[in-house]
Amino acid sequence: MENRRSVERSYERSQRLFDLLTQVACQSFHLDPHPEAALFRLICEPLRLDFYLHYPWQPESHRLWLGSHAGLPEPALAAFESLPVAESILGAAGLEQTPKVAENVPASTDPQLNLFRAIQVQAAACFPLLADGELLGLLAFGTRQRSSFAPDEVAIMQASAVQLTSLLHRRRTEEALCDLTQQLDLRVRERTAQLLETSEQMEAFCYSISHDLRAPLRTIRGFSQALVEDYAEVLDDNGKDYLHRVMAGAEKMDTLIHDLLEYSRLGRSTLTFESVSLEASIDRILQQFADDIVMKQATVAIERPIPQVHGHGPTIDQMLTNLVSNALKFVPAGVAPRIRIWAAEQGDSVRLSVEDNGIGIAPENQHKIFGVFERLHGVDIYPGTGIGLAIVAKGVARMGGRTGVESALGQGSRFWIELPRANAESGRVAA
Ligand code: ADP
Repeated sequence: MENRRSVERSYERSQRLFDLLTQVACQSFHLDPHPEAALFRLICEPLRLDFYLHYPWQPESHRLWLGSHAGLPEPALAAFESLPVAESILGAAGLEQTPKVAENVPASTDPQLNLFRAIQVQAAACFPLLADGELLGLLAFGTRQRSSFAPDEVAIMQASAVQLTSLLHRRRTEEALCDLTQQLDLRVRERTAQLLETSEQMEAFCYSISHDLRAPLRTIRGFSQALVEDYAEVLDDNGKDYLHRVMAGAEKMDTLIHDLLEYSRLGRSTLTFESVSLEASIDRILQQFADDIVMKQATVAIERPIPQVHGHGPTIDQMLTNLVSNALKFVPAGVAPRIRIWAAEQGDSVRLSVEDNGIGIAPENQHKIFGVFERLHGVDIYPGTGIGLAIVAKGVARMGGRTGVESALGQGSRFWIELPRANAESGRVAA
């Protein structure tokens, strides 16, 4: 009978320790600022432990510095704040990288146990916190209530040490990752600032060159005109032809410089944002193209109403001018342009589309055409400078929108711009 009760007690004890081990191994201490204290709280009562000490390992130091602790009263604690590595059982566990269990401490004469003996500790266990061969720290448990530990109790303390090691290791990795992310972020910001500066310098350079080129160009045009007017009789047909070519070239260069300056200005000036009526803008632009529309027998269908957007009015006019001008221009010879303009709200944005029945754009070229000077056709067939869509892309970007094209060769094109809806962006003023 006594034997049976003893077996039952032993079974219950094993069951309790097994439950405890499961809690130590499975409970998540990840968010706990002091997981070692939480682990100690979990095991101290069942294992009749009085205190724990945690020392982070400092490889260069000859001393151990107490990191966290629980269970030792202030007077006893003072002796544990800082220990010479070589003189304590904790240091020995660290240096040898192996757990140390000290039992019957009062009866022992081991000098490495002096500190424990001085505060009447009966048994203690010290564990090195080893992660991939690297020592992260030391964890010690001690008791004044019992003089020895059963092997399964040591196993539970060791499991706590392993759990703590993996948490510390994970935290270190996360901190290293966080540092790395911050460094990367900083580097990206520095590079972006450098790029921005270079791009601003380039734009300033481009602006001043374009500006300066206009003066000699004016001279060329002025004197060419003077030659035509004052010396027409002196020139033979060849001479006149040359002169007209000079004038046509100068004219083209003037348009190019004008467009470049427009593009450059768009990047440099401050834009004041307000509520802009796209409908009014479209009507204004179609007025400008009235002669062209009649000449080309074009039809333009506007699907009203078109919502208001939040943006910079003159830039929006400029962008729509470029889109409509292209829609009128890029049609096969002999085909009357048919243009459709409509808008749709998409969340906080308005997408305005300009669709034509023109020559279309092959998919592989669609990403190029928004870049400066990117043209898919010779100027003889379709005149232009290759800056119109670059202005559209830059303008849209400055207003916090997007632009794109859907097209196929010979099937017409649909260019779209997406801008913030008027009420959605009332907070933003300028960029
Ligand atoms: P430009 O009109 O002065 O040539 P853009 O920047 O406006 O310059 O357009 C770049 C190029 O994109 C054009 O040269 C043309 O090849 C192509 N493109 C633009 N709009 C259309 C369109 N509606 N249909 C077909 N191709 C177009």
